Amino acid sequence: MKRIGVLTSGGDSPGMNAAVRAVVRKAIYHNLEVYGIYYGYSGLINGDIKKLEIGSVGDIIHRGGTMLYTARCEEFKTLEGQMKGIEQLRKFGIEALVVIGGDGSFQGAKKLVEHGYPTIGIPGTIDNDIPGTDFTIGFDTALNTVIDAIDKIRDTATSHERTYVIEVMGRDAGDLALWSGLADGAETILIPEETYNMDEIIARLKRGHERGKKHSIIVVAEGVGSGVEIGKKIQEQTNMETRVTVLGHIQRGGSPTANDRVLASRLGAYAVELLMEGKAGVMVGIEKNELVYHDIDEALSRKHTIDPKMYALSKELSI
Ligand code: ADP
Repeated sequence: MKRIGVLTSGGDSPGMNAAVRAVVRKAIYHNLEVYGIYYGYSGLINGDIKKLEIGSVGDIIHRGGTMLYTARCEEFKTLEGQMKGIEQLRKFGIEALVVIGGDGSFQGAKKLVEHGYPTIGIPGTIDNDIPGTDFTIGFDTALNTVIDAIDKIRDTATSHERTYVIEVMGRDAGDLALWSGLADGAETILIPEETYNMDEIIARLKRGHERGKKHSIIVVAEGVGSGVEIGKKIQEQTNMETRVTVLGHIQRGGSPTANDRVLASRLGAYAVELLMEGKAGVMVGIEKNELVYHDIDEALSRKHTIDPKMYALSKELSI
């Protein structure tokens, strides 16, 4: 193998740049050529492909977003789109591809594998929702961004004796809400993986208030429903002054944390190592701090789950 390609796809996440850098540098270290494919699968189809050198990935390790840009591409979901992509890879003499992205991007990678094209996936998403890895690149940074925001909201919540509902990202996965809620001592954490009972939430809020609590924080993953609607119900049913903050896209950006940079560097280099050993059709991940790989098809067939012990703990600590 002489030449590999790398692309970032789907929702960006902090640390993707560090992963791109690791792929490029590790490959060049082992005398491979690396081509960057810009704008995800869209750039793959259109041939937006350029050779990357050691210097191409300089000064990006600390930057959020992705220097390769990213895109969503409906055409790649079709067989025709996938064939166009493979044609471009062949035209550029690229023998294997590294895809950095979330579960949607991995579905695309799976298709390439099914067509016999050697592809490896690196999990990059703030949602931490990819089976086969304990952590995805970007989750730690997003988590710290959320915590920083909740800390600030907590100050004003205390001063005004208000209840705050904070909506965080996570359409299908509650990790960001669960971890941030636990780290910030939220009274209640609502995640898509668990059902909730409004009466119980109200009772809990009232109990806290009677105990003299100055504020209450409720963290809601967006997949559960609108934070605004939940806030309205709480205000109506408790008569406590309730405010809602939807954190939105600030959760996606920012300089990656040390953990995300290190994770991205390890996973990026590992993906190249595996390709050099002739492995493909896999995703790389980290489990119990060990680098691992899993068949991409098998990983995608599993469902991401939250840690039930952590969820139970969050309830115990917020009595
Ligand atoms: P993420 O990777 O962050 O989950 P998306 O779900 O938007 O983001 O997926 C990113 C891109 O991956 C899509 O725009 C599409 O090009 C590609 N993709 C998603 N699902 C499939 C699929 N079933 N087959 C082929 N490509 C897919």
